[in-house]
Amino acid sequence: MNSVELLDQLIAFPTVSRDSNLSLIDWVEDYLCSFGARCRRTTNDEGSKANLFAAIGPEAPGGVVLSGHTDVVPTDDQDWHTDPFRLTEREGLLFGRGTSDMKGFAAVCLSRLAELNVSSMTQPLYLALSYDEEVGCLGIDRMVDDALHSGATPEFAIIGEPTSMRIVRAHKSINVFRTLVTGQAAHSSQPHRGAGAILAAARIIEHLDALGRQKRAEAGDSGCEPPWTTVQVGTIHGGTAVNILPSHCEFLWEYRGLPHEDPDSIVFAMQDYIAKEVLPDLKEFAPEASVETTPIARVPPLVPDPEARAERWVRELRGVREGGSGEVSFATEAGSFQRAGISSVVCGPGSIDQAHQPNEFINPAELERCETMIDDVCAYLCRS
Ligand SMILES: [Zn+2]
Repeated sequence: MNSVELLDQLIAFPTVSRDSNLSLIDWVEDYLCSFGARCRRTTNDEGSKANLFAAIGPEAPGGVVLSGHTDVVPTDDQDWHTDPFRLTEREGLLFGRGTSDMKGFAAVCLSRLAELNVSSMTQPLYLALSYDEEVGCLGIDRMVDDALHSGATPEFAIIGEPTSMRIVRAHKSINVFRTLVTGQAAHSSQPHRGAGAILAAARIIEHLDALGRQKRAEAGDSGCEPPWTTVQVGTIHGGTAVNILPSHCEFLWEYRGLPHEDPDSIVFAMQDYIAKEVLPDLKEFAPEASVETTPIARVPPLVPDPEARAERWVRELRGVREGGSGEVSFATEAGSFQRAGISSVVCGPGSIDQAHQPNEFINPAELERCETMIDDVCAYLCRS
């Protein structure tokens, strides 16, 4: 099958993150087995979703990981002109959910196996397909840990997120938290007999805003857009009536940290402020009051490799476009490979402008460009 035929197959599995991806994984595993791949699965706690890590070629040190996620974002409430889970060609473009983000890359990788002369390989090729990337990169670490445990020691990883085939060598971290302020209910005329959770939450949120403004003031010349660490509060819930001191207030917040920044710095600064400024006031008339912050998703940044090993190597591969800043604000699974000591870059077909949009498409010329890159990866793995 060629890459368009394979993309047609992959798009037909409606692997929205909230649903299982097992039918796609089963199909891909069968396909890979026909090329003699050695496959390993890791799953979520419920066993309803799986990562697939496939090794092709010799059991040797080194090698290259080609990595992508199998899940896609929902199409609910989007105005699609075609069936999002059926690959449809219109005016030379291929439409469907996941065409750019990022089943196109997986389809290309799978299609090139037919051209790969496995017996002449001197280093292994690894294919890493994950679950739950779109909901906070929840699956990838299990796969990377298991792959290392199995003895794989890849030299490079290419994460094929849509970058229009330009190299991305750094991106921000994503850090999502839930903060629950527990005060104590009381009549609003008697604030000295309780603790209002909403006012305490407001002080914490104001401090988060101040931290964000400070980050903006310190902005350097990062290639990320915008070139500073951003802080946001996304939801807030609390209270029952205007004349009752609210016993609870919960808010969800996040920050996206610059690649070089310690991803813990903001949450530490915020907890310090809570302990010193907010909690003493909250506990004055309500000793049981508390503030709890729990992480919901932590996606590590991709930090530029000081030796630029993967970057220099990928730059030599055909199909890779010149230019681009090399740093982006969207996060990927690359940081998980980097943390495992694998020099990693992001480079894949299609545009991030299409990702998550209605009528997502990919230009087949992008797939062809990616094919030549993967062919050069395969040639690299066959060098003696
Ligand atoms: Zn993606």
